[in-house]
Amino acid sequence: MTIIDELLANGPVITDGAWGTQLQLRGLPIGHSPDGWNLEAADKVEEVPRAYVDAGSDVVLTNTFRANRLALESEGLAEKVSDINRIGAEISLRAADGKAKVFASIGPSGKILMMGETSEEQLREVFEEQANILAQAGVDAIVIETMTDLAEAKIALAAAKQTGLPVVCCMVFDSGKELDRTMMGNNIEQVAKELTDAGADAIGANCGQGIITYIEICKQFAAVSDLPLWIKPNAGIPKVDDDCVIYDSTPEEFAASARALVEAGASFVGGCCGTEPETIAAMKRQLS
Ligand SMILES: [Zn+2]
Repeated sequence: MTIIDELLANGPVITDGAWGTQLQLRGLPIGHSPDGWNLEAADKVEEVPRAYVDAGSDVVLTNTFRANRLALESEGLAEKVSDINRIGAEISLRAADGKAKVFASIGPSGKILMMGETSEEQLREVFEEQANILAQAGVDAIVIETMTDLAEAKIALAAAKQTGLPVVCCMVFDSGKELDRTMMGNNIEQVAKELTDAGADAIGANCGQGIITYIEICKQFAAVSDLPLWIKPNAGIPKVDDDCVIYDSTPEEFAASARALVEAGASFVGGCCGTEPETIAAMKRQLS
């Protein structure tokens, strides 16, 4: 029995909400590396997963979304890859304190494989390096998230699987006429099939759109997959107001659709950009 089966034995699992906006609220300067903050302001970073656990999250992620060597390199932090990932895992494990499980976040490299900016071999190397550090630090599972390229997602998935931990793999669906394709044009059936064949323990979608449209996407996943589905929509569509990005759905509006998302087949529900601890608390009220 994996940690995923164990969590799902008690019904839908509430994950966490956004990190970036929460770190900014706590003083992370715009343009500063969020992952680098693990080294400089661990106490501030720890407030984020702690707020989600207090709000009712059963699963919290880690502040390691951009902590693969390639993404860190562009911020001049490549030599800190070990410390940033290890401390990121330790921060969330401390905040979870046995009350929630910690799923380590692995995001995209920021390089485009198809344009020759990186190679499959290089991606394999950097994702294995990151996954191994996170696994050694004691996380419960790994989440490959916000992926836009299925080829890169599968490489990251394989790298995470070699740690022996359960792995969730989710992609952004925000392209095509019906907004149900990835940026590279893959549809849900292709994504579900290829990620399942590559050994994912759960699959799904995050970021890109709000919860209403992700209910449809979740239904399409459920129609073609038996794996647990992981869905983390944004708090509506981001709008730029002066210099500030705002999201148009309130925690209550977002949470009002949580039940429909579970009925559409989601096993893990939470929020991506623009969601906050209050969103998770409101979801908890709706689902319990
Ligand atoms: Zn997002």
